[in-house]
Amino acid sequence: MIPITHPLLLQFAYQHYEAVEDQLKSDGSYKTVSKWFEKNGLGMSLKEAIMASVPLMEKMIEAYDGTTATTHLKDMYKERFSLSGRSLGNKKYTAARLVENLGIKVCPYCNRNYINNVPTQKKVKRTSELDHFFSKDKYPFLAMSFFNLVPVCPSCNLLKHKFDVSASPYDFRIPWDDAVRFNYGITDADFLKMSGKSM
Ligand SMILES: [Zn+2]
Repeated sequence: MIPITHPLLLQFAYQHYEAVEDQLKSDGSYKTVSKWFEKNGLGMSLKEAIMASVPLMEKMIEAYDGTTATTHLKDMYKERFSLSGRSLGNKKYTAARLVENLGIKVCPYCNRNYINNVPTQKKVKRTSELDHFFSKDKYPFLAMSFFNLVPVCPSCNLLKHKFDVSASPYDFRIPWDDAVRFNYGITDADFLKMSGKSM
């Protein structure tokens, strides 16, 4: 496991938010979704929800538990953001752009497989997949939150469906220097914890 750091991380999160906002506006669901976040749980703005840190997302999961969740963001992920060549709103913002921004070349979960963007004639294809650290099926309201979208290699994404990854590479509460040293040389399965909880 390697942390995802970048000096412009918050700027990228904001760019992501603007594109999500744009898309919701063009779908006509901006009011519905922002009201859902404002009226329920922590009473957040849409911007806070999309840019929420890992600890804040944990609080959101507790706070929004039992509330009928908004599914617009999950639909946006499935029907648009996860597909190559489809951008959000009118910002030309895509999942490939997200990966490109971060400058990640190796999967942060296994620190082993390369991930790339491959430009083809019509669109940029990704060899990475986006893992929802907090499941988009269980928590559809986190489906488009920037720090919940982790670019990973397909093998890790596949394994992640069966096992929970113990920590998010965006969790800055973890003393990464120690953690990285400690985990050096792990085998593929070792970084996945067999636990029912997603940390
Ligand atoms: Zn991997």
